[in-house]
Amino acid sequence: MEYQSTRAPFVKLSASQVIVKGISDEGGLFVPETFPDLSLSFPKMAEMSYRELAKFLFSQFLSDFTPEEISDCVEKAYTAEKFDDEEPVRLVPLTKTGEQKYLLELWHGPTCAFKDMALQILPHFLTKALKKNAPEKEALILVATSGDTGKAALEGFRNVDDTKILVFYPQNGVSPMQQLQMQTQEGENVMVCAVAGNFDDAQSGVKNIFTDQVLKAQLEKRGLLFSSANSINWGRLLPQIVYYFYSYFELYRKGVLRTFGDKLNVVVPTGNFGNILAAYYACRMGIPIGRFICASNANRVLSDFIHTGLYDRRREFYTTTSPSMDILISSNLERLLFALSGENHQALASWMAELASNGYYEVGKEISEKVKMLFFGGSCDDARTASTIRQMLEKEGYLCDPHTAVAVEVYRQYLAETGDHTPTVIASTASPYKFVSSVSQAVGLQVQEDEFQGLMELEKISGTKAPAQIKALSEKEIRFTEIVKKQNMGDFVLHCADSLWG
Ligand SMILES: *Cc1c(COP(=O)(O)O)cnc(C)c1O
Repeated sequence: MEYQSTRAPFVKLSASQVIVKGISDEGGLFVPETFPDLSLSFPKMAEMSYRELAKFLFSQFLSDFTPEEISDCVEKAYTAEKFDDEEPVRLVPLTKTGEQKYLLELWHGPTCAFKDMALQILPHFLTKALKKNAPEKEALILVATSGDTGKAALEGFRNVDDTKILVFYPQNGVSPMQQLQMQTQEGENVMVCAVAGNFDDAQSGVKNIFTDQVLKAQLEKRGLLFSSANSINWGRLLPQIVYYFYSYFELYRKGVLRTFGDKLNVVVPTGNFGNILAAYYACRMGIPIGRFICASNANRVLSDFIHTGLYDRRREFYTTTSPSMDILISSNLERLLFALSGENHQALASWMAELASNGYYEVGKEISEKVKMLFFGGSCDDARTASTIRQMLEKEGYLCDPHTAVAVEVYRQYLAETGDHTPTVIASTASPYKFVSSVSQAVGLQVQEDEFQGLMELEKISGTKAPAQIKALSEKEIRFTEIVKKQNMGDFVLHCADSLWG
């Protein structure tokens, strides 16, 4: 299995090469040349554990990895210890109100957000890929984060051999809990630093570092190679495909689905379009998904696109209670459009150029119709998000986080519009205890000055327990308090390479 680029014909790379490179030289994203149809293996796959299923699926795509290497990655990533149970994900039926909905909890990992599903395994893919392509080098992972990604990347790379990780976050741009999660990060190879400014400052600073050839050469002398862990890397997308297969087989085992032809719908709270694209790829490999329901918050650039075929980022940006979906450029949509355009590199190159220079592109009637057949788009503002959190607790006894609530509300819109009662999996992407103040407010509690006080009130009212790793934060030593100016981020990287990791 080889990989091509969405924007240029004739690019052909191996799996390990695309994991090391992250993005193609001309800016395109890497996609597999084919997707195998696995339908004939379903009876066998339905009997596999999550880890067995992951190994089986990865072996279809990581053709220059040995079975032992794949197995080693999976066993190191999805341990019962890191995911507080035998299986790393849980499917919770919420069918009291007569709806056929199942919440797929993807947040039982070390940082309590779904990004753990990919970022726990990416470091292992990456170190093995590096050994094949640049055996003398260590990887220096640079991340700019608006919250969840930074912490999940830190936990994923913590003490992984031959890697260093440095995370920049905006000084005034993450939640108190998220900041505390990063400042108390453990590990010998980690570094965390605030940037005076907002997320854009941190992100553009990191982009500048990646293209700074002088800095790159200086680090190479020290045996370090820049790498990123962002969500366009194939090594992050691939692990997300597994849980859609797992959910399908779990519903089959429970008798909710009776044959391997029975359909399933999925609802995904969407930002960069990675998670929902993974569901689409599962469908390409034979999982019969009826409709992909794409849920946006007030930044509804995607749901508008699904309705109109016009992708238009020229609009106001909203800061919402579901910050991991506050995004106006959904990078992974490029991969869907590549598939739906019949792998038209030229069309993708010109749309993406239009987006970069004009802020919009239009895909035309034919592709727009295809998108509408497969996807349903809906959006939900903060007020609706809050009322959904409250209703979920009152009617179903389930405490959900704001991102998940956006998905639940858009599912309700879908039901109202279509009456389609196909069994539905709703991706639940974060623990409610990561967003204590907005969840407390939604369920009518007084917002506490102290996050941990608020956390205990939430436990009481919901009868659930906060994840141990979040509770433990109150006792942890703060290790990182450094703040740098945007223009000094490059110097800071060198400083870390010399003094901390030298
Ligand atoms: C990143 C994130 C999302 C959005 O996922 P995409 O793959 O970017 O669409 C949704 N919810 C939470 C909690 C996240 O951290």
